[in-house]
Amino acid sequence: MKTIGLLGGMSWESTELYYRKINEATKHALGGLHSAPIVMVSVDFQEIEELQHHDDWVTCANILCEKAQKIEKAGADFLVICTNTMHLVAPQIEASIGIPLLHIADATAERILNSGVTKIGLLGTRFTMEQAFYRERLEKKGLEVIVPGENDRNILHRVIYDELCQGTLNDHSRLEFIRIIDALHIQGAEGVIEGCTEISMLVKPEHVGVPLFDTTAIHAEKAVLEALA
Ligand code: GLU
Repeated sequence: MKTIGLLGGMSWESTELYYRKINEATKHALGGLHSAPIVMVSVDFQEIEELQHHDDWVTCANILCEKAQKIEKAGADFLVICTNTMHLVAPQIEASIGIPLLHIADATAERILNSGVTKIGLLGTRFTMEQAFYRERLEKKGLEVIVPGENDRNILHRVIYDELCQGTLNDHSRLEFIRIIDALHIQGAEGVIEGCTEISMLVKPEHVGVPLFDTTAIHAEKAVLEALA
């Protein structure tokens, strides 16, 4: 089995999910006491979050490139960036290392297309919903992507940073997420991407009447397939 490189800590709440899901999928595939060979570097998210909100993507990229190089040196065969948002600097990270990057939007698009869905709603941070790096990658694969209106994008963004990334699960926020997902469904979305690696802690498939695509689970499962290939 190849060694999986995890660039984590964004937030650690969701990196914990990656670690669990990768090991569960490995055990499911190989049985017994099998677990996944993993190298992880986990960052201090306070520093990253401040840079994001000051629009300092150059420093974000520099920090994450240095961490990715450490992961490569430690023996990882490929890299998994454990957040949707920081794929904004995926091109810089990819260019700074010699191992392949398993892009979260590619894994997600593949899963959506395999399910027969073509019109998809996207939830995430404002960066993920509003900037081209994520949406265009999905669109190039043939998906039609719709995002919530500005007011709802602000609600999602606030809940992600002020609650989910801090491990807080709030019933009122869950209802807001469900309302936003329902609105996307009414607009024609045949499924909705949980395009932030913490959202699946709050909103589960049984809460809504439309298929959810949990990027944490999809990315983790793809990493195990890649490691076993
Ligand atoms: N984990 C989140 C994501 O998947 C948000 C935290 C971040 O800004 O990296 O986008």
